Amino acid sequence: MNTRLYNLGKLRQSILVIMSILLISTIIWKLFITKNKIIAKDYLLLASISPDIIIAFQQNKPELWKDYVTVITAGQNLTVESKENLLNTILIQLDRGIDFQELNWYGIDKNIRKSAQYYRTLFDKYSVYTPGKYLFPLAQTCYYIDTYGADREGGLRSHQGTDLFDKKGTPIFSVCQGTVEKLGWNRLGGERVGVRGKDGNYYYYAHLETINQDLFISKEINKGELIGTMGNTGDAITTPVHLHFGIELLNGEWLNPYPLLKVWEYQRFDITAKNEWCYFGLIEKTI
Ligand SMILES: [Zn+2]
Repeated sequence: MNTRLYNLGKLRQSILVIMSILLISTIIWKLFITKNKIIAKDYLLLASISPDIIIAFQQNKPELWKDYVTVITAGQNLTVESKENLLNTILIQLDRGIDFQELNWYGIDKNIRKSAQYYRTLFDKYSVYTPGKYLFPLAQTCYYIDTYGADREGGLRSHQGTDLFDKKGTPIFSVCQGTVEKLGWNRLGGERVGVRGKDGNYYYYAHLETINQDLFISKEINKGELIGTMGNTGDAITTPVHLHFGIELLNGEWLNPYPLLKVWEYQRFDITAKNEWCYFGLIEKTI
């Protein structure tokens, strides 16, 4: 009888241990998924910021670009009157050299203030727009437009990257530091290289003519290291030579790389911004 009770007790204990392990694993897994979702949401917000605004302020306010871009972006969907109020209240303080954390938000809607403060934290948390952290993938400027989301294969799928056009054989360089995760042929991408960046994102270079022979899976790769050369392999066989560049976030979602490329292009080649931002009165004027 005692042995049976002892065994039952042991069984109960084992079940409890197993259930606790399962519960803890589920919690850890959910936290992991949630964290990746938040990071992905942050990157989507970053990619929604106008690259022209970032470039204009990196050019004109190199020390304070994060503050200015934050305020302009937080006010972009406001009515003309509220926008004027925000810009006149906050940007004047920034012009006077007041630190972002010390700004006086009196008279500004609480939600706008919160949104601005969130944008500002993003620029410190993620270095995707910070000069010197990432690199435009070609050694010269080239033709590319924003075709993210455009129909492909008659609407069966959408375009999940940016196509950069240049001559066959144009060298392509890694935009960031990371580890080679995929290498070689796939049906759509042709010769392709996938790099897991130090930031956790997956950087995808497709339709290559050749892959750098020094690369292998799990090799550490530096920013600026040769990925391969431009071609039109895979489903690009009928199209002009181009690099398909994609960025996959930790939750499996593909980010629009176009705004990032525009900023990296400016940082690498000092291409001047098209717009001059006039923040007193109404927002932008095109010159
Ligand atoms: Zn493409």
